[in-house]
Amino acid sequence: MNVAIIGSGPAGSHLAHTLATAGARVRLYDMHRGAWEKPCGGGITAKALRQFGFLLEEKTAEFPRQAISEIEILSPRGRAVTFPLADAPFRIFSRTNLNGLLLARAQATGADFIPRRVTAFAPDGDGWRIEADGDIWRADFLVGADGCTSGTRRQLVGRLPDEDQAMCCGYYISAPGTPRAVVAFPKDFSGYVWAFPRPDHVSYGIINQCGEYPLPELWKELDRFVRWHLGGELPKDRVKYAARVPMLRKKSWKTNRVSGANWALVGDAAGFVDPITGEGIYYALQSAHLLGEALTRHAPATYDRLWRKEFEADLTEASRRLPKFYRGSMLGAPVIDRVLQLSGKHGGVVDIMSQALAGDVDYVTMKGRVLTSMLKPANWFGKKLEVRQIQSWAS
Ligand SMILES: Cc1cc2nc3c(=O)[nH]c(=O)nc-3n(C[C@H](O)[C@H](O)[C@H](O)COP(=O)(O)OP(=O)(O)OC[C@H]3O[C@@H](n4cnc5c(N)ncnc54)[C@H](O)[C@@H]3O)c2cc1C
Repeated sequence: MNVAIIGSGPAGSHLAHTLATAGARVRLYDMHRGAWEKPCGGGITAKALRQFGFLLEEKTAEFPRQAISEIEILSPRGRAVTFPLADAPFRIFSRTNLNGLLLARAQATGADFIPRRVTAFAPDGDGWRIEADGDIWRADFLVGADGCTSGTRRQLVGRLPDEDQAMCCGYYISAPGTPRAVVAFPKDFSGYVWAFPRPDHVSYGIINQCGEYPLPELWKELDRFVRWHLGGELPKDRVKYAARVPMLRKKSWKTNRVSGANWALVGDAAGFVDPITGEGIYYALQSAHLLGEALTRHAPATYDRLWRKEFEADLTEASRRLPKFYRGSMLGAPVIDRVLQLSGKHGGVVDIMSQALAGDVDYVTMKGRVLTSMLKPANWFGKKLEVRQIQSWAS
């Protein structure tokens, strides 16, 4: 089978590796000449590292990544708690390194990397005619792995509406790697700000549901945070970026069509991102894995069932909880404020937060798990964390 994959991000490269290993003839197209610094935090949770163990083990010297041992969380009211991650590895990659690692794996198994933009595709018998800057190829199966603004999606099912996307902007700032990441929640804001250290620079960024605040407001909020974090002015040599990421509303999951008889979408092109955390690398790899499984069994139609069974309910529940998480209150305070305050009083809250930071929160069963953890006598005396009050960057 000839498979054309448009996009060599995590989803496209991982799928290319899986299919080429199974003996398919794979062409992996990207408009960039190779791995590139796609705007991203590059944070990979313990859950993702467990499932895709090669990310932790392979080519660490060639494609370095930063080990993170603690994440500091700041609330809208200036509470700060540092959560240790000792038992749950968390890594931050520059995207050039992550994409490079995945592309090298795909090429090593025989996938053909074509550094060209796919400019057109059209049905051709029971397959596709793919055109990439003048180069023509015939594929039996077409995969759109071309990210949040996917042209493949636009042509086959229509673009993701703005209401199903988040806006991000940020900076890369040179600095030596440290093992501490920071995540901060501004007041009345559906999203968050981050400082994710990598081996030789920090990825700063802000994510916000599209349409809630205009882009200049996001830059202002981010600048306040970066100045606070650096304890000084913004460096002149900072590198700016802006990009979108899927953030599907609850109602959009059911109608989200991501496959047909001889085509499929994976990763961001399919809308597969946790709407609360913005975690998308895991879902890019996982959807590639599931489509790879379906195609290897010559049963492409099963892909729809596979992804829905694997994570539709969970991500739908995340979309349902999103407004309450960011803008709701708990016992009279913003949710994240209250959670941080309780981390200083109850080991059960620390336990749940540690699971969340490891990517192990299952939104469907979360309420029950929180209650069980809160009521477990061992947790009343379990590890509590220091809650500090800081001069908030947002004030
Ligand atoms: C600012 C920001 C921060 C983020 N931080 C995190 C994080 O810390 N952790 C996390 O898990 N997720 C994060 N995400 C989400 C994550 O970046 C995405 O979910 C992930 O990159 C999706 O992978 P993908 O392979 O589906 O798409 P992408 O990585 O977007 O790759 C798509 C590829 O398609 C190529 N392409 C597009 N059109 C064409 C064409 N016509 N022809 C050829 N090639 C084409 C592009 O060049 C690109 O290489 C973040 C996103 C943003 C925007």
